[in-house]
Amino acid sequence: MSVPSPTACPQAVVPPSPTVAPRQPTPSKSLAEILSRAWSLGRVGAVLDRELTTAVDLLMQTHVKNGFFGHYCDGMRRVQGFGADGSMEVALVPMRTQIPIARESSCQCPLCSPPNDVEKGLAWRGYQIWPNAFPYLPTDQQHILLTSAGHRGQAFSTQLLNDVLDFQAFTAGSRPLTMFYNGTAGNSQYHLHWQAVRETVPLERLIARGALCLTSHVKEADGELSSFDQGSYAGFMVSGNKRFVCAWARTLVQHLKSDPLTQGAYNMGLLSQQNGNFRLVIVPRRAACLKPNLGSLGPRGVGAFNMLGTQVLPKDEIPADFSDALTHLRDTLVPPCEFAWLATLKAPAKLPMCEATQRALV
Ligand SMILES: [Zn+2]
Repeated sequence: MSVPSPTACPQAVVPPSPTVAPRQPTPSKSLAEILSRAWSLGRVGAVLDRELTTAVDLLMQTHVKNGFFGHYCDGMRRVQGFGADGSMEVALVPMRTQIPIARESSCQCPLCSPPNDVEKGLAWRGYQIWPNAFPYLPTDQQHILLTSAGHRGQAFSTQLLNDVLDFQAFTAGSRPLTMFYNGTAGNSQYHLHWQAVRETVPLERLIARGALCLTSHVKEADGELSSFDQGSYAGFMVSGNKRFVCAWARTLVQHLKSDPLTQGAYNMGLLSQQNGNFRLVIVPRRAACLKPNLGSLGPRGVGAFNMLGTQVLPKDEIPADFSDALTHLRDTLVPPCEFAWLATLKAPAKLPMCEATQRALV
């Protein structure tokens, strides 16, 4: 989807935040009972870190039962074998054709005030968690949104990434949980949000097979920074503990903000943890080509999920020229070798500590 243009709101009224029912100590009640009561009183029920896995399960089960997803999952189909090495796949989502686009103004923002009263959410730290009303995947794969509680735009901060890493760690349980962030390249909503799905994306499967060539730039006890450039995949991989991943993500985002090739355009993907290490993929996007021309589909806004290997098409059939068109996906990438500053990353770096609050970096 395209980046929304700022639109003046005729009535610049900030919608009220969804009601968060007060959380009383109720040790004898199950989380299901607590959330059921919270959702009967308001839109959002508060949850603790250790409750996240169960709370997300309950969130999705509730919306399946109350019919929230309607026909949006009808006809979903996955087709494998695309891209130069056959590792990419297509997710056909024929009912995903009429997504409301949130503007910069909060008065039309579906993430500030979800328009369907049936929709309920979770409140966690300073965020809210909602089911994606227009999912890429069947409901058992739990396509959800982690949004800022207040209306603010897509931007990076180490505090945000710190919370996203925590969210993955507390929510994953024993199942895969991939998170991704479009930033301002391929986002359909202005309002700050990450997305999560219970799925292992093609890029992660490529890594698991040992089929992605990674070039190491920094290797320390806390983690490793590497890059890759292979077929339609290119970017950085930051793996390690929370401190290492947050610090290097901040450094890379600063470079991508000031580099004329990207001008702040990038996507992020958080793969499943491996051996206790977080694995953050950062894909630099070419500012001059955020919508690559994909053959008969024309110029298309693509985002993080595409860059991780799954092409989401709101159609019931794949265009005949789609395989050839996918070669143009590379037009929207900036391979790390094009960055003059990459060499400086090889020098030993003094990693800043994650700060409690950071100035937002787009
Ligand atoms: Zn909003």
